[in-house]
Amino acid sequence: MQPPSYPAGHDALFPYRLRESSRARCVGLRVTLQHGLEVVLPKGCNPTVVPDVLRRKQRWIRAALDRLAAHLRVFGPPQPWQLPAQIELPAIGRVWRVEAVETASRRVTIRDAGADCLRIVGRIGNEKACRAALARWLSTQARAHLPPWVRAIGQRTGLYCQRVSVRQQRTRWGSCSRRKTISLNAKLLFLPPELADYVLVHELCHLAEMNHSRRFWELVAEHHPDYGHANRHLRDMWKHLPHWAR
Ligand SMILES: [Zn+2]
Repeated sequence: MQPPSYPAGHDALFPYRLRESSRARCVGLRVTLQHGLEVVLPKGCNPTVVPDVLRRKQRWIRAALDRLAAHLRVFGPPQPWQLPAQIELPAIGRVWRVEAVETASRRVTIRDAGADCLRIVGRIGNEKACRAALARWLSTQARAHLPPWVRAIGQRTGLYCQRVSVRQQRTRWGSCSRRKTISLNAKLLFLPPELADYVLVHELCHLAEMNHSRRFWELVAEHHPDYGHANRHLRDMWKHLPHWAR
C-alpha cells in the first residue's frame, strides 16, 4: 500500500488520497488495496467539504479499513503484476520454467513446451488475460492431481469421498458440504505436500463429523497427530502464494 496523502488538511479523521473526477456527481469514498482510503470529488467541488463527509461516514470507513487491514495481515502487501518466470507446485514436486511468447491473439493460453517448460502465448501484456490463463492452468493441474490424492488417502486411512470438486476459493483451503461433497482449493498445490495432505485428511474427516468438536479432532489426530502445527502453518501460507494466484 502506498503512503496515504493528506491533501485537504490534517484535521480530517482519516488519512486519504484525493482524486477529482469529471464523471462523479457527488463525493465518493473507496477503500482499495492500492491506495487505502480514496475520496473522489466531482470536478470543481471544494475539497473543504471532505472532513465533514469523513465524519459522517466514519463507521463505514472504519469497517472498510478494518477489512483491508485483515486482508493485509493474511495476504501480505500487494505486489506489482508481472508474468512469473517460473512456476513451482511443491505439493506435487514440480517446477516449470515459463516462456512468454507475444502474439496478437486476444486469448492467452498456456501450453507444455517440453518436460519442465510452459509456454504462455497471446497478448501477454494484458494482465487480466494472463491471470485468467494462469488460473485455468492451475485448475487443470488441481483437477488432475487432487481427486486421485483423495482416493489414495482413502486407501491409507479408510476415509472415502465420492464427490470432490476443485475451485479457487480466496480464503479457504477446502470445505465439506452437508451433501458430502468436498471442495478443494486448487491453490493447495502451492503447499508443501504434508500440509496439502493434512487439508485433504481434515476435509475427509468432516464427512464423519461435520463440526470441529473434540471427536472430530480425535479423528484427525489418528491420521495427522501434529494437526495443531499444521493449522497454524496453513493460516500463514496465504501470504506465501505466488502473487499471480492471490
Ligand atoms: Zn474443518
